[in-house]
Amino acid sequence: MIIDCHTHVWQYPGHLSETFVQEASLMRKTPINMNIDLADHWKAMGPVDRAFVFAIKFAHSGMVVPNEYVADYVKQHPEKLIGVASVDPTEKGAVEELERAVQDLGMKALKLSSIYQNFHPCDERAMAVYEKACQLRIPLIVHQATTFPRNAPLKYANPVLMEDVALKFPDLKIVLAHLGHPWEREAIVLIRKQPNVYADLSALYYRSWQFYNSMLLCVEYDVTHKLLFGSDYPVTTPQDSIDNLHRVNRHVIDTPLPKVSKDVIEEIIHRDTLSVLGIET
Ligand SMILES: [Zn+2]
Repeated sequence: MIIDCHTHVWQYPGHLSETFVQEASLMRKTPINMNIDLADHWKAMGPVDRAFVFAIKFAHSGMVVPNEYVADYVKQHPEKLIGVASVDPTEKGAVEELERAVQDLGMKALKLSSIYQNFHPCDERAMAVYEKACQLRIPLIVHQATTFPRNAPLKYANPVLMEDVALKFPDLKIVLAHLGHPWEREAIVLIRKQPNVYADLSALYYRSWQFYNSMLLCVEYDVTHKLLFGSDYPVTTPQDSIDNLHRVNRHVIDTPLPKVSKDVIEEIIHRDTLSVLGIET
């Protein structure tokens, strides 16, 4: 069983602002697909058994993929796809919208991001949303990491800021997307000491030296059992992410430098993320 816990769908024009698209194209050597055909997403999920699909409510940064849009797509493939809701804690009605997305649309998790949505992780409006997620017994996936839009505030982005949330809501399962890059060390020490905080490895492998070093740090801090497989499609595909996890040691193969073991890599790829996060389907 392979579960991709981090994938996107969006339409352009429609779900992304012009500024977002311009900034994205400046930032990447290889431009990512700005209009995702649902058939392309479905095809790319071929190598995995289950895939999380994110709604996105990041108006501050120019990305809004409605819960209904994702729920409609998930309904086409309910045996494989898992809908992840998004709400904007800075907007009125966020708590009610989350309840509706879970109870009426069948979404199974919540996606938020302090940096994309411009709020401090401990903002009381966000606390109310976490509390609702706890009541609904759904996990929280947070992009608590850097990103490229110029007006997305780095001051809210460090994964360590999630520690107070984890302490206040000890039963809330929290996933730090992208291992909190470039604050992987902070993410690692947080997932090590907070029992219900995990991290996904999506969209990291193409910074191959940083990825090797982060993975090695995970081994040395003994947190590899808290790592979840993800691709961040369309940024990478599940197949490329699997292949490049297998190649994590490629810079050090014929050297005495330490390696990430095959067993660790296979465990991550085949982790039962649904059970880990308490998601029933
Ligand atoms: Zn993503």
